[in-house]
Amino acid sequence: MSNEYDLVIVGGGIAGATVAKTVIEKAAGMNPPRHPRILILEAGRATAMSADKYDTYVDAYREALIKVPNSPYPASGSAPQPNVLDIRRPEPGRPADSGYFVQMGPMPFGSDYARSLGGTTLHWLGTCLRMLPNDFKMKSVYKRGVDWPLTYDELKPYYERAEWDIIGVSGDVDDQCYPGIEKGDPRKFFKSADKKRFPKGEYRFPMQRIPSSYLDDYIAKMTDGLVIKLTDGKKKKHEFPVMISNTPAARNSTPHEGYQVIGAVGNADQGQRCEGNSSCIPICPAQAKYNALKTLYELIIKYPDKDSEAGEARARVTVRSQSVVMRVNHDQKKGKKGKVTGLTYKTYHEDGSAPVERTVTADMYVLAANAIENATLLLASKPAANNSDQVGRNLMDHPLLLTWGLLKENAGAFRGPGSTSGIPAFRDGSFRAERTGFRVEIGNWGWNFPENAPYDTVHDLVGGGEAGKAQLYGKPLRKRLGEILPRQFRIAWELEQDPVETNRVTVNDRYKDGLGKHRPVIEYDLSEYVRASLPWAAEASRQLFGALQISKKVRRPTYAPGDYTHYEPGDAAEVTYNGQTYWVRGAGHVVGTHRMGSDATASVVDSHQRSHDLPNLYIVGCGSLPTLGTSNPTLTMTALAIRTGEQIAAELKGKSK
Ligand SMILES: Cc1cc2nc3c(=O)[nH]c(=O)nc-3n(C[C@H](O)[C@H](O)[C@H](O)COP(=O)(O)OP(=O)(O)OC[C@H]3O[C@@H](n4cnc5c(N)ncnc54)[C@H](O)[C@@H]3O)c2cc1C
Ligand code: SF4
Repeated sequence: MSNEYDLVIVGGGIAGATVAKTVIEKAAGMNPPRHPRILILEAGRATAMSADKYDTYVDAYREALIKVPNSPYPASGSAPQPNVLDIRRPEPGRPADSGYFVQMGPMPFGSDYARSLGGTTLHWLGTCLRMLPNDFKMKSVYKRGVDWPLTYDELKPYYERAEWDIIGVSGDVDDQCYPGIEKGDPRKFFKSADKKRFPKGEYRFPMQRIPSSYLDDYIAKMTDGLVIKLTDGKKKKHEFPVMISNTPAARNSTPHEGYQVIGAVGNADQGQRCEGNSSCIPICPAQAKYNALKTLYELIIKYPDKDSEAGEARARVTVRSQSVVMRVNHDQKKGKKGKVTGLTYKTYHEDGSAPVERTVTADMYVLAANAIENATLLLASKPAANNSDQVGRNLMDHPLLLTWGLLKENAGAFRGPGSTSGIPAFRDGSFRAERTGFRVEIGNWGWNFPENAPYDTVHDLVGGGEAGKAQLYGKPLRKRLGEILPRQFRIAWELEQDPVETNRVTVNDRYKDGLGKHRPVIEYDLSEYVRASLPWAAEASRQLFGALQISKKVRRPTYAPGDYTHYEPGDAAEVTYNGQTYWVRGAGHVVGTHRMGSDATASVVDSHQRSHDLPNLYIVGCGSLPTLGTSNPTLTMTALAIRTGEQIAAELKGKSK
């Protein structure tokens, strides 16, 4: 009996949507053309497939008292999601399990993700940086981590397609001048082999850059000519010229010729341009920022799950929401290869009736449920695809060290996207043999991350009063806020994290959710290699703040210009290194739990993200990244997903029905 579907995809986030779109488009262009039937099983609700319904998320965001990334997206006992408000430090022998994650420690894993149709791109920031050539060969160049089974040059055409055909990225090639790129020349780094789209190989992003903020320009002016000097363990001095670089972003701006801007789901007129009103995390009300609903919407409009009225053959896409995959069924024996024989999922209902369990079969299967959920699912399936014992291991993120200050002059904070520029100086260099690289993100939203501004600023002025001054109300309050808030700024020092086997996701029958699915049990720490970057980031911050003329240490509720960076002892995110305390947050960049590699004994998937053990299973997403570098991971993961989609389409071709 033939299977009902050619392909079943678990997860309606950007990874799953990208694979579905690529498979359909590639298969249609084959000879003879193929028109696959694809089922997407999505654990979360499909609330937002029209502009009106999306507004219910915007309303939830407005009403939320604390506006963390998941605040607009309703939690469900049947498809629970992590929330940064639940992060607690586990005590030795006592896991912190009051949230969705079971945190075993010694550090808590500090990031979250969304479980609603559209996935975590609903609340991502949208930074879209490519990885650097050396990031793909960390072992060969720096004797750290592992090498990828792919090079930057091999992935380059897929980066272009991720930027143009899936996400829609705004940026200017000339701004992308990083250490570690070819001959220091961004035009060479981006040079394209696609002569049809880019005559003479002169690559450009689909849309012009989002303008740098007034704050970016202010910092650029104040740090003009600054060279940060840092000393390594052998007393060698490393010099880092500071340059402020505009960051490519997944948000709409003026398109270049050949690119059609994608507006809001169900209302293309809305969201055609970023409006600069600053709430990208947790939600872009206009949908000027990319989210995976856009790709899914295009698919279900173009390839609905019904017979075509004109009678022509075409692909069909079915999205089944509130359907949580519980188990990957397979016939694999330990140490041997096998086959996936079906997926068992449970569909739950809003009316409280009992969930319905079903099993679906297909020719091929894709897990695209996010790095932590993919690993949890595989480990809970006897386990599946784990001859290498690498499933769930090498969990990575970008540990964030925050520093923040109050400038002497109005720099226009709280306007525009969360970040428009960064300082790429520390992304690559010989120092990466000793400590990790890091990227510096300049934050446009004042102190909202470290000090819950503007709310805590208002509280200070109204509640106790600014130190030594009267409590303020009405017009004087507004005037003082107008003086303070636009001078607030913060920097995120985003540290590269190396793959470590003991940083891992596991499952335990004691910990299950409302549907009976295993919750992720997480062990997490920072290696010596990462910790060695903390004093460097802190010292670089000190030199940067010096150039901004705000070296003096100050604390709220005083609002004099100065450096407000401080670390609260006992905070869940506390890290001590060489006697110094730091405060490290998660970046939401969940990576590494099913790493790709050519050696089946040391990796879970091959360079096409196909399971080494179960050849009819592809495991896609950031979990496949063997190392993380200093780029936010989604663009790279999308490029990989396009490559995987092509591979799957090529296989479907041989099975014409
Ligand atoms: C606050 C924040 C900011 C971020 N900013 C950036 C950024 O600026 N740049 C960047 O590159 N990255 C950023 N990221 C990371 C980025 O959002 C993720 O890398 C990306 O969304 C992952 O895509 P995915 O499709 O693999 O997974 P997801 O987007 O998480 O989608 C997975 C989908 O699978 C579904 N699912 C899960 N389990 C099951 C199951 N058992 N059965 C069925 N369905 C299931 C989920 O409901 C979800 O819809 C950010 C993340 C956070 C949290
Ligand atoms: S600044 Fe506003 S319009 Fe622009 S992407 Fe962010 S939320 Fe959307």
